[in-house]
Amino acid sequence: MKTPLAGDAAGFASLGLADSLVSAVAALGYEEPTPIQREAIPVLLSGSDMLGQAATGTGKTAAFALPLLDRLLRDLKTNRGRARALVLVPTRELAMQVAEALHKYAKGSNLNVVPVYGGAPMDHQIRALRRGAEVIVGTPGRVLDHLRRKTLDLSTVEVLVLDEADEMLDMGFAEDIDLIVAETPETRQTALFAATLAPRIAAIAGRHLKTPKRVTIAKEKLGAGKMPLVRQVAYIVGRGQKMTALGRILDFEGPKSAIVFCRTRIEVDELTDTLNAHGYGAQALHGGMVQKQRDRVMQLFRSEQADILVATDVAARGLDIDHVSHVINFDLPTAPEVYVHRIGRTGRIGREGMAITLANPREHRFLKFVQALTKQKIEILNLPTEADLKKRRLEATKETLREQLAEGGLDEVREIVESLVQDFDILDVAAAAVKMIHDAFDKSTGEGEVDESRDEARRSGRDSGRDERGPRDSRAPRPRQSGAMMLLRLSVGKEESIRPADLVGAIAGEAKISSSAIGAIKIHDDYSLVEVPADLSDKIIAALRTTKIRGHKVTIQAKPA
Ligand code: AMP
Repeated sequence: MKTPLAGDAAGFASLGLADSLVSAVAALGYEEPTPIQREAIPVLLSGSDMLGQAATGTGKTAAFALPLLDRLLRDLKTNRGRARALVLVPTRELAMQVAEALHKYAKGSNLNVVPVYGGAPMDHQIRALRRGAEVIVGTPGRVLDHLRRKTLDLSTVEVLVLDEADEMLDMGFAEDIDLIVAETPETRQTALFAATLAPRIAAIAGRHLKTPKRVTIAKEKLGAGKMPLVRQVAYIVGRGQKMTALGRILDFEGPKSAIVFCRTRIEVDELTDTLNAHGYGAQALHGGMVQKQRDRVMQLFRSEQADILVATDVAARGLDIDHVSHVINFDLPTAPEVYVHRIGRTGRIGREGMAITLANPREHRFLKFVQALTKQKIEILNLPTEADLKKRRLEATKETLREQLAEGGLDEVREIVESLVQDFDILDVAAAAVKMIHDAFDKSTGEGEVDESRDEARRSGRDSGRDERGPRDSRAPRPRQSGAMMLLRLSVGKEESIRPADLVGAIAGEAKISSSAIGAIKIHDDYSLVEVPADLSDKIIAALRTTKIRGHKVTIQAKPA
C-alpha cells in the first residue's frame, strides 16, 4: 500500500541512474535527490564536462559519485584493475569520506576504490594500487608522488573530478593539479566543484574543462518577502555533540510542537528512538511509512499528543499543520530553498515561531550563504547552560503560580496560610510554598544531561540499553509520571522488530492519551515492559487488545510498577 511519496528514491531513477545505484541510495534512506544532484546528475550522465557550484552538505559527493559509478558499473570489464576514475580532493579527511561514499553507493559491485593521501604509509597504498583500482580518490600531493614513482598510471582515466577546487587552490595545489591533469587522456570527462565560482576557478576550469555546463544551486535570489517572520538561530556544534545540543535546546525551549528535520529515513528512525528513550514524546514521519502509519502520526501530532515530529523533507512537504512552534534543523538543509521550505512550517500568521539550526564548524559557510540570499539574520547562539535551564524552570513555576492565582478556588488553603502567619512572615510562607512546588516539579520531571556516549552508541546500534526510555524532562515544569504507575508486559519485543516509538505510537494513538504520560519502556527479545499511569491503565489495555503493533496482536499483563 505504498503511495508515490513512499517511492523508493524514485527521483533518482528518473534522473537516468542504473537500478543498482537507485537501490543503493534507497537502502541508505535517501528519499529524493538534493537540488545539486537533480541538476548535476543528468549533465554528468550525458557525458558533458561540468562546472558546479556546491559546498559541503549539499550532497555534492553523490552528485558526482553516482554518475561516475553509473559509467563504470555499466561496463565493468573495461580496463579492469586500471585507473578509470580519479577524484582529487584537498584533504585526507575528505579523501576518506569520498572513498567511503563511493564504496557505499557501489556496494556489491566489487569495484575497487582506493584512497591515497599524505600522512599515511606509502607501501600500503602502493600495494593497494598494485592489486588494481578502478577509482582513485586522492590529495594532489600524494597522487603526484605516486605518479613520480610510477606506482600510478592515469593514462586510462575516463572521468576526472576536481572536488572543492577552491580549497585545493587555497592550499597551493594549482601547479600539482595541472601536472596531474596532464597525465590523463584528453578524451576524459571532467567535473569541477567549488563553493564559489570565483575568477581563479574560472581560470582552472578554462584550462581543464571542455565547454562545461554550469550547475549552480543558488539559481534565484530568494526574496525577503517569501520568508516567514520567525526568529532564526543557529548553534555551532561538533558532529558528536548534536544529540546533547538537541536535548538542551528542547529542555530550554520546551516547544509545544516542533518538527525536527533529518536527511534520511534511517536518521529519522534513529533520532526518534533516541528522543523517546530520553523521555521526549517523538514520532517519526518519512516516506518509507505506509499511508495509515503516516495518518496516525499526523493525528497524534495534530491533537498535540506528540510534541515532536521527526521528519524528512519529503514527508513534511505538503503537510498542513499550523501550530508548529519550532522548526529544528538537526541536519542542515541541502540548499537555501530547502531551508526556506522547512522554516516556512513555523511562524504561520499570527503565531510566534522559531527556526533553530544545528551546524558543524564546516557548515558555518552554509548559514552565511542563506543569510546573504534571504537577507535575514541568523543569530549564532551559545548552547543554554544549566544555569539558563534553571532560570527557565523558575520562570515557568512563576507562570504556573500566576495561572493558579487567576483561577482562584484558594479558600481552603488560605486558612493554612492564615494560621502560619501567626508564627512566620507572610513572604517566607509564600516563598516556602513556591519552593515546594518548584522542587516537586523538578523531581517529577527529572534532571540531568543526555548522555552523549550512550547516544552515539545508540545511533550505531551498539548500546545494549538502547530500548530504555527513562522518565526525564527537565523543561519548563510540566509534571509527568508523578502519580502511581502500572507496569504493562506486552507479548511483542525485539524479535518482532518493536521499537519504543511503536509502543508510544500505539498506546498514545489507540488509547488517545498524551505520549508524555508514558513512562519507562524496556524492550526485551520476546516481550516489552511499559510503565503507564495507573489511572489510565485499564483504558490502555482495552485499547491495545483491539489493535496490532507492527502487525502483531498483543497479549498484556499488568502489575503495579
Ligand atoms: P556532501 O554534501 O556530499 O558532503 O553530503 C552531505 C550528507 O548528505 C552526507 O551525509 C550524505 O550521505 C547525505 N546525502 C547526500 N545526498 C542525499 C540525499 N539525496 N538524501 C539524503 N541525504 C543525502
